[in-house]
Amino acid sequence: MRYLKPVFPLLMTSALSAPVLAAGAHVHGRADLEIAVEAGRLEIRLAGPLDGFVGFEHRPRDDAQRAALAAALAALEAPGRLVEPVAEAGCRLTAADVAEPFHHDDHHDDHADPDGHAELEAEWRFTCASPDALSAITVRLGERFPRLERLEAVFVGPAGQGATTLPGGHGRVELR
Ligand SMILES: [Zn+2]
Repeated sequence: MRYLKPVFPLLMTSALSAPVLAAGAHVHGRADLEIAVEAGRLEIRLAGPLDGFVGFEHRPRDDAQRAALAAALAALEAPGRLVEPVAEAGCRLTAADVAEPFHHDDHHDDHADPDGHAELEAEWRFTCASPDALSAITVRLGERFPRLERLEAVFVGPAGQGATTLPGGHGRVELR
C-alpha cells in the first residue's frame, strides 16, 4: 500500500456524496474503485469502460448482448462476495446504484461517446455494525468479469488514505 498525498479531505461528509477522485482515463480492461469510510458508513464506487464488463460498448444488438448486459447489471446490483468487507465489521448493503449506459435516448447518452465508447458505473452503500473492525475489503470482481485486467483502488477513511492496484480485478484492499 502506498500512501497518497492528502489530496482530499479526511472528513468525508461531503466526499461521500461526491466523486472522491476524478474518473480515470478510458482504458479497456481497467476500472477504478473508490472506497470511502466514515463512522458506520462505507461507500464504494466502481467505474470503468463497459468493455471490461460485457466485451462491447455499443447498444446491445442481439439477444445475447442484451442478456450479457442485463446479467452484468444484475451482478453489480447485488455484488455479494464480489465486493466483500471483512465479516467482523458486520457491513450490510443498503443501496446499490448501477448506471446503465444506454438508458438515455440517443441524444442524451451521458455514458457513451461518439467514438463508440461507453462507461459503466456502480455505487454501493453499506452500513457497518462494527466500523472499527472494518480493516479490509476483499474484491473478486475479476471472477465475474474476467475481462477486467486491473482495478485501481483508492480509499479514504478515519485511519488514513491510500491506493492499491488489484491485478486481474481481485485482491484485498487494506483500509489501514
Ligand atoms: Zn471503450
